[in-house]
Amino acid sequence: MSAAVTAPLTAATIVAFIADIFLRRGADSYLGEDVTMSEHMLQAAQLAELAEANNTVIAAALLHDIGHYCSEFPADAQDQGIDNRHNEAGAAVLAPFFPTLVVDCVRHHVPAKRYLCATDPGYFARLSEASVLTLKLQGGPMNAEEVAAFRKLPNLDDLLRVRIWDDEAKVAGRKTPSFAHYAPLLQRAVDARA
Ligand code: FE
Repeated sequence: MSAAVTAPLTAATIVAFIADIFLRRGADSYLGEDVTMSEHMLQAAQLAELAEANNTVIAAALLHDIGHYCSEFPADAQDQGIDNRHNEAGAAVLAPFFPTLVVDCVRHHVPAKRYLCATDPGYFARLSEASVLTLKLQGGPMNAEEVAAFRKLPNLDDLLRVRIWDDEAKVAGRKTPSFAHYAPLLQRAVDARA
């Protein structure tokens, strides 16, 4: 069920709003995988933290799939995102609050998979079965022109790291910190943007 959101979201309320989504919707299954949505997103954040990524990149890893919940966001944000794929939807709902790097990592986490499939011979072999299935719907591996354009994006390394943590964050039963552990870090990311 979607929460009825009437008040516009602000820099002061966005983190609690996202926490509430994790709480209410986190147990949703992550289609075709052995982990729930919140387990998946928290594992991605944990991998970023273990890699000693900075706060902004950890925030991006945590929020990379938030676009699956864009229907939870107020209508004006949904208008921008709901008809798009979950990566574009996620970028649209986060853009008013989070630094560009977070928004870009979320927006590009699906193209990054297509890029890595085209450029890293070992990468495709490591994809989960569900991720292989969605690759086709997402357009398959990039062609040479797409690869050349993607390579020019700012912060390419961070875009690719978030993608690889996404792929690795599918381990049933792995212990992670809770959302509350990451909330202050998310707020710092919001405050850095504001
Ligand atoms: Fe994901």
